[in-house]
Amino acid sequence: MINETAYGLGSNRSCIRELFEYGRGRAAVVGDENVFDYSLGNPSIPAPPEVDQAIRDILQDTSSLAVHGYTSAVGDLATRQAIADDLNSRYDAGVRAQDLFIGCGAAPELVAVFRALAVPGAEILAVAPYFPEYKPFVEGAGATFKVVPPDVPGFQIRMEALEEALTANTVAIILNSPNNPAGTVYTRQTLKDLAALLERKSAEYGHPIYIVADEPYRELAYGVEVPFIPTIYRDTVVCYSYSKSLSLPGERIGYVYVPEKATDHDALYAAIAGASRAAGHVCAPSLWQKVIARCAGLRPDLQAYDRNRKTLYEGLVALGYEVAKPDGAFYLFVKAPGGDAEAFSEKAKQKDLLVVPGDGFGCPGYFRVCYCVSYEKIVRSLPVFGELV
Ligand code: PLP
Repeated sequence: MINETAYGLGSNRSCIRELFEYGRGRAAVVGDENVFDYSLGNPSIPAPPEVDQAIRDILQDTSSLAVHGYTSAVGDLATRQAIADDLNSRYDAGVRAQDLFIGCGAAPELVAVFRALAVPGAEILAVAPYFPEYKPFVEGAGATFKVVPPDVPGFQIRMEALEEALTANTVAIILNSPNNPAGTVYTRQTLKDLAALLERKSAEYGHPIYIVADEPYRELAYGVEVPFIPTIYRDTVVCYSYSKSLSLPGERIGYVYVPEKATDHDALYAAIAGASRAAGHVCAPSLWQKVIARCAGLRPDLQAYDRNRKTLYEGLVALGYEVAKPDGAFYLFVKAPGGDAEAFSEKAKQKDLLVVPGDGFGCPGYFRVCYCVSYEKIVRSLPVFGELV
């Protein structure tokens, strides 16, 4: 006997993975240089050289037990302190090492937070467009997944739509800024309005509504502010990852931050650790914790992404496409000519141009272009976009 939900999730690949695999297949036939694969958010800039140097230095330690052994389940104290110091040097947030839980990237961290919050009947909201994995993460935690309709075309948050979605069962709202797939960044004003609404509704319902801030793209912003949400709304839990900021998606390292002032801080932190334990978490990879202890203050060099972003955005707009203003992450969200993104993606596929329809992100009619590819491909793909418009 096999669990049906697990079987369903394991046997149906996500649309993004499906496209990516298709692209690999086509590359084997027509050559990699002839496939414009904009499907997957795999960073295309290398990890900073300091990361490689840190690994070399750490491996000089002659006691391999010290390098490769288990660490504390919540993470090495030195790593947590280094992250706290870095956050405090950038934001007036009063982060303490004991507020941080070192996890294996944003995905398992989100799962742990949802499980920690999933009291019976709990509802967790996501603002469209959203990262499609939120749905199985939330439902796997036993909560109900609800969607707040998108704020088209600016992709901020429509407060009236959010207020309509809130109920006494709402325990959390997931925010992802800079956003995958829209590439937009929530402004300070949006976050202040949101905080005011959540404070009012938390008081009305008699329990906190937490913001779960999913922040793998925090460092990927192009000249705009990315406000640190715990400084605007105290009941915020941050799930951070070094997958994109240091180009380490395969290494699985990040952290959860529960602010000292968050309601039920100690119980919430313990529940996140407990939910991780129940999911088989032992500790985050020891070597990578030691790397982060040395590299927490590094920032990515965004020049290559920025050049891709500008060229593609300006090129698509010149061709007549309607594109959300891309201030962060490495995605463009584009209105599908004709309005049917699935049909557009299928037509593009015939020309070996792979873009992801927005339907899976809760935003039909748009498609996502992931521009972490070579600049040369961006330039050569523009005429193909031109044929499709
Ligand atoms: N959240 C968002 C919005 C993402 O885009 C991704 C990965 O692409 C994740 C979470 C998962 O990231 P991680 O590699 O840290 O698990």
